[in-house]
Amino acid sequence: MPDVIVIGGGITGLATACALADAGLGVSLMEARQLGAMASSWTLGGVRQSGRDPAELPLARAAVAQWAEWHHVLGAETGYRRRGNLRLARNAAEAEAIRAMVAAQRALGLNLDFLADIKAIRAIAPAIGDGVVAASFCPDDGHADPDMTISALAGHARRKGVILQERMPALRLLVQGGRVIGVETPVGHLHADRVIVACGLQSAALIQPLGLALPMVAKRVCVLQTTPQPPAFEQVFGVANADCAGRQEIDGRFRVTTGIGDWPGDPARWTEATLRPSFADTAALIARTVPILPLLAASGLERVWGGLIDLTPDALPVLDAPAGCPGLVIGAGFSGHGFGIGPVSGQILRALALGETTPFDLAPFRLDRFFPEAVQMPLTLHG
Ligand SMILES: Cc1cc2nc3c(=O)[nH]c(=O)nc-3n(C[C@H](O)[C@H](O)[C@H](O)COP(=O)(O)OP(=O)(O)OC[C@H]3O[C@@H](n4cnc5c(N)ncnc54)[C@H](O)[C@@H]3O)c2cc1C
Repeated sequence: MPDVIVIGGGITGLATACALADAGLGVSLMEARQLGAMASSWTLGGVRQSGRDPAELPLARAAVAQWAEWHHVLGAETGYRRRGNLRLARNAAEAEAIRAMVAAQRALGLNLDFLADIKAIRAIAPAIGDGVVAASFCPDDGHADPDMTISALAGHARRKGVILQERMPALRLLVQGGRVIGVETPVGHLHADRVIVACGLQSAALIQPLGLALPMVAKRVCVLQTTPQPPAFEQVFGVANADCAGRQEIDGRFRVTTGIGDWPGDPARWTEATLRPSFADTAALIARTVPILPLLAASGLERVWGGLIDLTPDALPVLDAPAGCPGLVIGAGFSGHGFGIGPVSGQILRALALGETTPFDLAPFRLDRFFPEAVQMPLTLHG
């Protein structure tokens, strides 16, 4: 019997499994599809502190420090590059919004500059187009490669003895005397002292029978990937109204993304076909990104895919061990920015599972914050 069961093989579940195994615990991780089947592969892969909610900023700062070392710890490359994040303004109103954001985040101690004109922006990123009038620049932000990261985590987990089971959906949490004691799977019951639910959008359905509500809406996003291009852009870009973001990957491909509305389907039943962006979605993303990076106009389009984002009402995740449910830990609802803080989410969920304290204020991430009332925040994509 493992000490801990982790449900979900995305960055959150895998980082947690690694952190627990590093602490000497026996861990079994079950993944309904294959490792990195959902957001952790669909993702842009931005590792960003700038523009974070102040509640999340301490986690993001700690994560940036951890990304720099993570490939040593995991024994394999994550593709992490610390080359900065630009948030771009395309008109005077957006420039003012960014100026205000820079002032607010500098007051929180973030290393963030305001670039007041295209000349200053091009000194950092020569490929940016003429329509951009101002930007924020955080040199300590960056990006990592989603597939390399998932593979590095899986390799480390295996070497540390974690049992990784793919195509193994958790059907139900097992509860005895008010305590979570394991998981029902298609091949039987698996018991453990603690169960960590880290399965993104599907987390809500698993904890609902325990009387726990995790309000989330599924937002569909469109992602485009070009053919490999010569190195031209090192940073991650977002825009002031957060309706698109992008970066050039280390193999030269550009990856850009935008939101394309709600997804009303059952989050357990998505297929590539049901998520696939339309011609119009694709055209809208191209129209948004070519003025930002004009070189994209001549780039070959290699892949288009759709993804889902687990958006909570306040766009902050749940990182919690609810008091009324001993044995249960929840890490879900990352709302479009859980990749960058993945390493720290793993550390926090490990601490919650072991009943240890963390250096972070976890009150903003408690599940019970949503009740009695919750106001829905919009989806934002900043990389
Ligand atoms: C297009 C896009 C761009 C993004 N850009 C960024 C970015 O630039 N920076 C950033 O920080 N974040 C970004 N994000 C968000 C980030 O990718 C996610 O927040 C993060 O990957 C969430 O990881 P996760 O492990 O919590 O969830 P997921 O990666 O969704 O993993 C959950 C896993 O649980 C499995 N699962 C579900 N149900 C069950 C079950 N019953 N039993 C077993 N397994 C189950 C799923 O198959 C899945 O593999 C982006 C997301 C998208 C979609």
